Amino acid sequence: MDSLTKTLRSNVKILKARASRSAIYGVAIAVAALVAATLLSCYFHYGEISLGNILKVQKTNVTLWFLNLMPFVFAFWGQYTTHVMAFEASTLVMDQTEDLANLTVALEYKVAHEATHDAVTDLPNRILLRDRLEQSLQAAIRHKTMIGLLIIDIDNFKDINDTLGHFSGDRLLKQVVSRLKGMVRKSDTIARVGPDEFAILLNMVEGADGIILVIEKVQKLFLKPFPLETLKLEVQVSIGATIFPEHGSDVDTILQRTDLALYAAKKDSKKYTIYSPDLDNRSPHRLTLMGELRQAIEKNELLLHFQPQIDLNTNEISGVEALVRWQHPKHGFMLPDEFIPMAERTGLIKPLSVWVLNEALCAAEKWHSQNLKLSIAVNISPTTFLDAELPNMIIGMLSLYEVPAEYIIFEITEGTMIKDPALALEIMKRLTDMGIRISIDDFGTGYSSLAYLKKLPATEVKIDRSFVMDMLNSENDAVIVRSIIDLGHNLSLNVVAEGVENQETVNRIKKQGCDVFQGYHLSKPINNEEFLTWLARQKEEQKRDQE
Ligand code: C2E
Ligand code: MG
Ligand code: MG
Repeated sequence: MDSLTKTLRSNVKILKARASRSAIYGVAIAVAALVAATLLSCYFHYGEISLGNILKVQKTNVTLWFLNLMPFVFAFWGQYTTHVMAFEASTLVMDQTEDLANLTVALEYKVAHEATHDAVTDLPNRILLRDRLEQSLQAAIRHKTMIGLLIIDIDNFKDINDTLGHFSGDRLLKQVVSRLKGMVRKSDTIARVGPDEFAILLNMVEGADGIILVIEKVQKLFLKPFPLETLKLEVQVSIGATIFPEHGSDVDTILQRTDLALYAAKKDSKKYTIYSPDLDNRSPHRLTLMGELRQAIEKNELLLHFQPQIDLNTNEISGVEALVRWQHPKHGFMLPDEFIPMAERTGLIKPLSVWVLNEALCAAEKWHSQNLKLSIAVNISPTTFLDAELPNMIIGMLSLYEVPAEYIIFEITEGTMIKDPALALEIMKRLTDMGIRISIDDFGTGYSSLAYLKKLPATEVKIDRSFVMDMLNSENDAVIVRSIIDLGHNLSLNVVAEGVENQETVNRIKKQGCDVFQGYHLSKPINNEEFLTWLARQKEEQKRDQE
């Protein structure tokens, strides 16, 4: 008997005892009424109370006979009803308690399930994966077998979510899961370990060859497009993999190294990477890196480089683009592509953007005080741009630095406008009202509609460097560059080409009417000191050419 039933039984006993006590009071009252009635009847009948008269009254008075029965009737009735009541109460309480106990078990199960499963796909989450991985490791040690772990990351899932909405994003994830489920063995585990990341734990693999076979099978699943509403979506994945015991002997190491392999696959634009020890030095662990980035921002350890731009109409240096860099103590000189996407995901992008803006305005203020009227373009990521506080923050900064607003350009990408078109437009208007110019960066790589571009208060489009760099070899790219220049001009926008690497490209874009260019042909991004030296040399050369 469990303790709950015991408590219930004893509660019922207490209930019965209390009900019996009420019945005893009933009997006592009935006896008292009988005694009083007998005595009164004796007195009224014979004028005095004696034992003989009481016996006589009891023998002759029919009403007293009924009263005599009353205590017994009360006693019996009381006992009977208390038993019935207590019985009914106990069954009621028992039933309800059982219902409650069932409900509690169901709730406990639900809570445990929710804590270990993903709500969208109902797959095990990272917590349960760790548990299963631990069990698989123990079993593999016992049976001297190998196990494999894959982490599959859907490329550009964020863009899919931003463009088609979360509902479609979730539907895509569910379709991915059904394809994956059809591929693995029953003993294997599929888990969702991130917004766009799935893990497959393979019990028993035949070394690296075995895991490559599985990876190929996964890749095959993504060859067919995914139907989403009226679209057929091409989805690509990157995969990181590890094998036990070769790549680690505990859960943490294996998970971290699989993550590392995935990170390397993404960084090198490879389809998959199997962990190897050299990755440890090459790709720092994401979490450590973000912690270090936070400190680098706080301790002012980032660097801001400037890439000059030339106005093709006047042949003058018209401005610079500010590009952030990080001199990491262990990993060396790091380019923004290695840490900006992560900073964007972890919320570090805001302090980073504030740092870049301050540094850029500080440099621009110095140039302007030396009569170098250069514009400065700053890249603003979607999260920073769509922060409703941005315009106020800029007002504050503009009051701190003496740089006229019209020399400041904010470069935003098409992704920013797709994420929240209404808010993007409102913020753009507020900034342009202040005099700040807006440039649409990496133009041609996003999905924004031309009709939309017409409505934007932008002042400039920047043709993505991928088109410019290859335009001499690829007719397609050349057509795209020419079309963007024409489109920009038709919309009264300044057109900037980035990624210009040789004089021939300069000649081509100049002929096509491009307004401004930047690229390695002119200069790589350089620090402030180098830039000032470069600028002085450039001016000297120009002077010499004129003479
Ligand atoms: P972006 O804004 O398109 O910047 C231009 C990129 O093209 C820079 O790469 C620049 O070094 C590179 N580039 C310029 N000319 C040439 C060329 O002739 N050939 C080649 N191959 N590349 C050239 P970088 O500095 O690595 O920056 C990459 C991206 O990181 C930038 O692309 C920008 O989107 C982002 N980024 C840079 N700094 C910041 C920042 O402060 N904040 C934010 N949110 N993003 C930044
Ligand atoms: Mg840019
Ligand atoms: Mg660009």
